[in-house]
Amino acid sequence: MELSQETNPWLSAEARFDEAAARLKLDDGICKVLKSAAKEITVHIPVMLDDGRIEVFTGYRVQHSIARGPGKGGVRYAPDVNLDEVRALASWMTWKCAVVNIPFGGAKGGVICDPKMLSDGEIERITRRYTSSLMGDIGPELDVPAPDVGTNDRTMAWIMDTYSMHARHATTAVVTGKPMELGGSRGRSEATGRGCMIVTNKALQRLGMEPASTRVVIQGFGNVGGMAARLLSGAGYKVISIIEYDAAVCNPNGLDIEALMAHRKETGSIADFPGGENINKDEGLYQECDVLLPAATENVITSKNAGKLRCKILCEGANGPTTALADKILAEKKIFVIPDILANAGGVTVSYFEWVQDRQGFFWNEQLVNDRLEEIMVASFDAVVGYADKHEGVNNRTAAYMLALDRVASAIRTRGIYA
Ligand code: NAD
Repeated sequence: MELSQETNPWLSAEARFDEAAARLKLDDGICKVLKSAAKEITVHIPVMLDDGRIEVFTGYRVQHSIARGPGKGGVRYAPDVNLDEVRALASWMTWKCAVVNIPFGGAKGGVICDPKMLSDGEIERITRRYTSSLMGDIGPELDVPAPDVGTNDRTMAWIMDTYSMHARHATTAVVTGKPMELGGSRGRSEATGRGCMIVTNKALQRLGMEPASTRVVIQGFGNVGGMAARLLSGAGYKVISIIEYDAAVCNPNGLDIEALMAHRKETGSIADFPGGENINKDEGLYQECDVLLPAATENVITSKNAGKLRCKILCEGANGPTTALADKILAEKKIFVIPDILANAGGVTVSYFEWVQDRQGFFWNEQLVNDRLEEIMVASFDAVVGYADKHEGVNNRTAAYMLALDRVASAIRTRGIYA
């Protein structure tokens, strides 16, 4: 891959796919099927703005694969949404669901808009019109959206309501990540962070390390990073540093995460936290630590900076934090990588539980959700790392992709090519 293309999400996904497919010796026909999305939908949504003007927004829904079950994947509202990105994210979802072996394919959606510039009413109208445009394509048995960047549980409630009004009956299982009173699952909001903790625990066991002497640096203090910080710190890890887009703080003895959350709530930033020191945010990723957990955004570890990392374990909480060109450098440095499609799959796993509970109309308590999440994350970690151990020259990321591709390819072969 060319250096100038390093951060293109579609090419990044393709590079990982190509390597795994070559090692699996997947036949050309199946490769062709898996390299193209099953369905790509573009909708142009007219929406009345608050000032009476009509604006037309462009939205997408890409269903990459429905071989193992309904499509599953978030809906993103952002100004830079584009079809290439939605395609890449949809294929990522196929692999992620297959790695944790849940019965979903992969999908993703998005609308080109800037939620920060829109009123709640405008966002609601965009959401409802987008949903009605996709009526024949989403549904509990077809494709199940969820929140992503720029959308949240409120957006999911509007999708659920719009879909239900058209279907003429309440259909909670059409989306996941809903509010609790509309069929949301207990444990969903912390599921991705919890999944990160479970796989980090497993990596520690494997490397003979103990939480109490394990220093963790986390980039991003949002849903994933914040929950991971809270849970890891509660489990005895030393979370020594948090890096945000505007500041970074450090305390070599471990930060008090609850106090840092309260400080940010009060001041709007993690900067100047009395229980730590401000450090240069641009150097934050390169601190010496045992676990580095990027949980902010994509492409933060590239061929330009991977050489500067000083961690033993890289647990990828974010989607696509590491570029394909950086993988080789991490391997040379012998960093134990827990790849994103495994590390952050706790979220989609509990989304799956939400869908199951909605369809049963019977809801689980939080302990049951957490226990079942642990069971799946542990089994998936063992499957990925075990696969890498057994195959010469296969690292954890390639192993995760190989397992996923193999499962999806096998479903396609078993179903057969229709007509
Ligand atoms: P979020 O918006 O709640 O949190 C992201 C945090 O990162 C914010 O606090 C933001 O200020 C910070 N941030 C953004 N850019 C940054 C930068 N360059 N440097 C430092 N900090 C930065 O989002 P989230 O839901 O926590 O998602 C984070 C990542 O995890 C994304 O890549 C997302 O796709 C992925 N992910 C999320 C889930 C989930 O369940 N929320 C599941 C799987 C993957």
